[in-house]
Amino acid sequence: LSKKVEMTNWEKGHYINYAKMNETLNIVRQRLNKPMTYAEKILYSHLDDPHGQEIERGKSYLKLRPDRVACQDATAQMAILQFMSAGMPSVATPTTVHCDHLIEAQIGGEKDLERAKSINKEVYDFLSSSCAKYNIGFWRPGSGIIHQIILENYAFPGALMIGTDSHTPNAGGLGMAAIGVGGADAVDVMANLPWELKAPKVIGVKLTGQLSGWTAPKDIILKVAGILTVKGGTGAIIEYHGPGVNSISCTGMGTICNMGAEIGATTSLFTFNDNMSKYLAATNRKEIGDFARSYAAELRADEGAEYDEMVEINLSELEPHINGPFTPDLATPISKFKDAVKENKWPEELKVGLIGSCTNSSYEDMSRAASIAQDALSHGIKAKAHFTVTPGSEQIRATIERDGQMKTLEDFGGMVLANACGPCIGQWDRRDVKKGEPNSIISSYNRNFTGRNDANPATHAFVASPDLVVAMTIAGSLNFNPLTDTLKDKDGNDFKLSVPTGEALPSQGFDPGNDTYQAPPEDRASINVAVSPQSDRLQLLEPFQAWDGKDSNDMPILIKAKGKTTTDHISMAGPWLKYRGHLDNISNNMLIGAINSANGEANKVHNATNGEWDAVPATARDYKRKGIKWVVIGDWNYGEGSSREHAALEPRHLGGLAIITRSFARIHETNLKKQGMLPLTFSNPEDYEKIQPDDKVDLLCTQLAVGKPMTLRVHPSKGGDAFDVELSHTFNEGQMEWFKNGSALNTMAKAHKK
Ligand code: SF4
Repeated sequence: LSKKVEMTNWEKGHYINYAKMNETLNIVRQRLNKPMTYAEKILYSHLDDPHGQEIERGKSYLKLRPDRVACQDATAQMAILQFMSAGMPSVATPTTVHCDHLIEAQIGGEKDLERAKSINKEVYDFLSSSCAKYNIGFWRPGSGIIHQIILENYAFPGALMIGTDSHTPNAGGLGMAAIGVGGADAVDVMANLPWELKAPKVIGVKLTGQLSGWTAPKDIILKVAGILTVKGGTGAIIEYHGPGVNSISCTGMGTICNMGAEIGATTSLFTFNDNMSKYLAATNRKEIGDFARSYAAELRADEGAEYDEMVEINLSELEPHINGPFTPDLATPISKFKDAVKENKWPEELKVGLIGSCTNSSYEDMSRAASIAQDALSHGIKAKAHFTVTPGSEQIRATIERDGQMKTLEDFGGMVLANACGPCIGQWDRRDVKKGEPNSIISSYNRNFTGRNDANPATHAFVASPDLVVAMTIAGSLNFNPLTDTLKDKDGNDFKLSVPTGEALPSQGFDPGNDTYQAPPEDRASINVAVSPQSDRLQLLEPFQAWDGKDSNDMPILIKAKGKTTTDHISMAGPWLKYRGHLDNISNNMLIGAINSANGEANKVHNATNGEWDAVPATARDYKRKGIKWVVIGDWNYGEGSSREHAALEPRHLGGLAIITRSFARIHETNLKKQGMLPLTFSNPEDYEKIQPDDKVDLLCTQLAVGKPMTLRVHPSKGGDAFDVELSHTFNEGQMEWFKNGSALNTMAKAHKK
């Protein structure tokens, strides 16, 4: 285990430390004296203090030392701006930045990329120079989507990584515990502070049988999402194991882990197996695969390890699924889908099929998709619906270009987009339907919340495997089941599509394509990172004010949000992405997608000071100008979706004090704490109903103490006596300092000064 094996081919001197991990794990093993799951082994082998750390699943806060940090361009801006304000010369933990989110799909890969480079020049220049300055690996626009690049170049079994993107768990396909965090957490790790995570529970998913036919790895996670729902993975790591794993490629495992984010899981991972070794070898990392083999006993669960919950899926019986619309956990097997379309009156005509993204753009995915497209072409037909292809990385793009899959997909009618997120994150200049027009699209992406892809709330977005997406695209209809139904060939004869086929890895090896990586230079002292004060896209950060030490009385409720309030509702993506580095400008999107329980409308709230109905950000700005703090009341799983800390920074910037909900999504709750806000939950969730949007509230902040409830005093707008509601929170001692000092960053800067 003492061998020196580099973590990645792109850096020098960062070795995989299985020896240290083993040592740390053995300390914990002696203390716990019981069998451990694989997820626990990874976490505990990265403990900052294995002797003293309190360890109880679902209870303790683990202080961890991740091996790596990864940031995408939309979140990296704010993370680096925050890191800069901590005043350190370089990052303490290997870090990479990936340019993928800011490239809008319009007319096709090359042109879209060139346009993005010019539109985003200021941001790319900032990222490129700050990465060079602070010793961060920089993947330029065109390199591909963060999670593919990580899988291809950086992930390895047994490692712990944090990434400022919710689909970071994709690297679980290579046995890495890769966890999506907010930028503020990344800043901690870049600055050499231990990273804190509430010890997750572990849900085991045992796979038996074998994948075959039209059933793809994606169907496993579509099924799991249906079973566990968007809330089911909250606070848990999903650990896949069992004999069925052998029939899943490494990239297929990546797909499953990637989409585990949709069920709120902390992360998902597979135990080390041969398909991982094969993938490591195919991506020039055979030595890592061999090294992992020598540590293999700790890269799986111990015999008799206990899971908090167990799910079992027989892959031989698993049907292809289609999930959606509007939520990724509405899972319908293909055999029942036609009926569901009819029953729910979902628009039958399929307008667009989209394959690729970080979730499903592997060589295998593209080969299988191309085999179906080829089948259609050989019958003289093409895609009936619009069809787009997003390669996940430059390496995938170059390889499928060389091996012919791209040509097939283009001949079939596909538009190949840039190696970037594109329509998956709303970077889509869609022109085939008008805003507000009900229509259906289907993608092999992971997330399908309202308006995410094209900012049209009437778009019914479904998610499925790339195989089904291509098949439905040929039919141009949701009423097609490729397993049972026939299509018409060019002469009007019936035919059935053949079962898709594809290779997991290219037999000729990968073609790396264009060089898109910028390594940090040796001499970094003279590099200048400039942010123009006139910029409307980048803004240096001012520290937030510390808590005044008092209770806050008579506060208005900015909005009582009803139903799903995702981070897309709180800080919308799409056109707003360009302001990710400018806190004041992006705050103009705060909560504009949340539904006001008072009127059932979005972005229309009642201003308590002047009685007018106005937009949410304008009302918050008005309160702020008048020196009035405010709160938000939220529903279940508030802040589900992505890791974007803007959803926490914005309410803080516009003068909010607390977000009070029935429950929170984990990342968002932590992000709120980091920014010095109070994420609080109703001890009795029914109390949500007792509060009216026009009520005023007192929050007894001075009661804040670990494990103790807080009081919300409600003054009903309709008159009558004030009443108290009990609130709960999950602050620990360290996190309470964040609130008191105004933010985690203020706390860090204070410690730095000392
Ligand atoms: Fe990009 Fe979509 Fe993947 Fe997020 S989920 S990294 S937006 S492709």
